[in-house]
Amino acid sequence: MTAQLTDKYGRNIEYLRLSVTDRCDLRCNYCMPEGFKDFGEPEDWLTFDEIERIIRVFGELGTRRIRITGGEPLVRKNLPELAARLSLLPGIEDLSLSSNATRMQKQAEPLKKAGISRINISLDTLRADRFKQITGGGKLEKVINGLLAAKEAGFHPVKINMVVMRGVNDDEVEDMVQFCIDHDFTLRFIETMPMGNTGREASLQYIPLSEIHDRLAKKYNLVKANMNGGGPARYVRVEGTELRIGYITPMSQHFCDTCNRVRLSVDGTLYLCLGQDDSYPLRELMRAGITDDELKQHIQNAIDIKPEKHEFSDNPQKLVRFMSMTGG
Ligand code: SF4
Repeated sequence: MTAQLTDKYGRNIEYLRLSVTDRCDLRCNYCMPEGFKDFGEPEDWLTFDEIERIIRVFGELGTRRIRITGGEPLVRKNLPELAARLSLLPGIEDLSLSSNATRMQKQAEPLKKAGISRINISLDTLRADRFKQITGGGKLEKVINGLLAAKEAGFHPVKINMVVMRGVNDDEVEDMVQFCIDHDFTLRFIETMPMGNTGREASLQYIPLSEIHDRLAKKYNLVKANMNGGGPARYVRVEGTELRIGYITPMSQHFCDTCNRVRLSVDGTLYLCLGQDDSYPLRELMRAGITDDELKQHIQNAIDIKPEKHEFSDNPQKLVRFMSMTGG
């Protein structure tokens, strides 16, 4: 009988988002506060051995999908080495990565060779001036070169995540669609979420994605579509093209009923829900010498306290931590 991690709502938790660093080389204004420096110390980070052990144990408990995130995961040294070790673990069927691609030009090949199967890249604008403004000084060119290097390295589909904000970048939705058609990328639109003060500020530009869908439906014939992946996106295809567009709607149409994931932060804290503070620290327990069976019991104890859903609409002031602390 295959092992399965199930929470008290009967949801099968087969997907772990693994944050390998809380640091990032960008400061997207809906995520990390400008000038933020209060990062964890490297000695607090899980080592590669500890990460490999936790992922091995999650694999033995039935977790099938691992997504490597950050902050920006590519700022963690020797990431391809860690990816290679995780890709060999029994039970892990899908090893993917989310990145801002500023460092992807050099790392796309080694990550592909290491066993990363799919890549999601954050890109909110195609205008260099606006990119600089949204990311607190980032260079758009680096990201475009990173995207093209990921495609060149054989990643397919490369998925682009665009956080749509009213009056900030919603005038570029059609341009982003055309960009993805031209480069054979998959496009996903994401609604803003009130995570931390930065997330709450960005939520002042919140736009329900049904509005974006209706706008695109005036220009394109959109037909229902499916896509591989364990995520909550609902997809349509632009008829006459291979482009799939996904909508990730935590605010207007949440997907908590079918939630299949938990998040592990770089310091070994298991966060049970993106929209709640419920968490379970594992690092100190591991460093205190617990056995694998004890670790499995602690993980099950954590899953037993997994909240039913987020309260982004009912209680937007609730969350202090911002997105990059658990990598979205
Ligand atoms: S907000 Fe929480 S319960 Fe809802 S889908 Fe995200 S992690 Fe799952």
